[in-house]
Amino acid sequence: MIQAKLQSFTVYESALMRTTSTVVDTPDAILLIDPTWLPEEIATIRRDIELNRHDRPLYVIFTHHHFDHIIGAYGFTDATTIASQAFVEADSSDQLKEIHEFYEEYYIDRPIQKPDIDIVIQPNQTLSLGSIPVTFISTPGHDATHMSVLIESMNLLICGDYGSNIEPPFIEHDPSDYLDTLQTLQSLVYEHEIRWFVPGHGDLCDNRSAMIQRLSAAEEYILALPHERHWSSSWPEHSFFDRVHERNREMVAQKETDRRSRQQDY
Ligand SMILES: [Zn+2]
Repeated sequence: MIQAKLQSFTVYESALMRTTSTVVDTPDAILLIDPTWLPEEIATIRRDIELNRHDRPLYVIFTHHHFDHIIGAYGFTDATTIASQAFVEADSSDQLKEIHEFYEEYYIDRPIQKPDIDIVIQPNQTLSLGSIPVTFISTPGHDATHMSVLIESMNLLICGDYGSNIEPPFIEHDPSDYLDTLQTLQSLVYEHEIRWFVPGHGDLCDNRSAMIQRLSAAEEYILALPHERHWSSSWPEHSFFDRVHERNREMVAQKETDRRSRQQDY
């Protein structure tokens, strides 16, 4: 379904985990970020793009290689694809396996593939897509391959898996990188006077102090780990989140142990 439709971009929301796919309409190119999840949803996005395409080139950007963000890649194999260098180098077999298991469970028969990437992004690189400069900000922490997408001329920041109002941080890469990324995103919000802030899961935010609030809630949560459970009032209670929280705790505790043992080695 469509979560939000503005003149220059549309946020599609999957029925699953409220995952977002964003289509950005520029005068001479169409950008699609993270096509996801279900076949009907991917077909709808594709149809809407084609109805409005007028021969413009289509770029598909993957914020990171997690399966819920690459699952729809098969619908756009003719587009020019963009992702980080780390994305291209990552072993994504676990992600493809997740898609395989999901499809098998629900009798879905669609191609499973890690997208081939045409334009490989270096950290914090700016590219002109059509006539619009698009900056790809390296944002590790949730995942090592992660980048967020800044379209300055539209005051639009597409975060990927940060800044969600409906789920807590999933620290699947590194807690201190995650904290640095939260700082980076907060600075971007101020410096570029972001008006539209799109998380990978949950609601578009159009209020700058609410954007900062979301990012600081994540920061406070991580800083309280591994001991406390500092839960934003907007994140629901959910048995799945209890498991995520346990994983986060273990990740932070493990990194702390690693750091201590490195210090002892010196
Ligand atoms: Zn993710």
